[in-house]
Amino acid sequence: MRNRFARFATVCRDFGLRVTPQRVAVYREVARSKEHPDVETVFNRVRRQIPTLSLDTVYRTLSVLEEAGLVSRVETLSGPARFDANTTRHHHYVCTRCGLVRDFCSDELADFSPPREVVPWGTVDSVHVQLRGMCTRCRVAGTRRGSGSDSPGL
Ligand SMILES: [Zn+2]
Ligand SMILES: [Zn+2]
Repeated sequence: MRNRFARFATVCRDFGLRVTPQRVAVYREVARSKEHPDVETVFNRVRRQIPTLSLDTVYRTLSVLEEAGLVSRVETLSGPARFDANTTRHHHYVCTRCGLVRDFCSDELADFSPPREVVPWGTVDSVHVQLRGMCTRCRVAGTRRGSGSDSPGL
């Protein structure tokens, strides 16, 4: 966490970005959460400290931080984009029901070499793998509901 903030200040300086209270607050909210929050979640949390903050400012701030490489966007299948301050190489597990996003690392994926057919298309700079499924919590909740209206009735 402390390292991330040291890096935050350095990167802002390198990009000529002023370290404003809004930027710090927005970045902190993304960085301290393991949930990969969406814009609205960040807005609702930061607004508690900065009541004058607008949703639009949060959007713009996240875009600026993304351009600077301080946060990245996680595209999930449904719902709004989520933001991630973990800039080390990692992959995501996504629950397609509740939208849970979890980080994981994998030695196998770190060694991944792209298939030969990709070579003519261009260079590969990074590999992002997204595993999708139903998280344990959603599965348990689904079981508890039993044969509710949600169940396909198998
Ligand atoms: Zn879930
Ligand atoms: Zn992540």
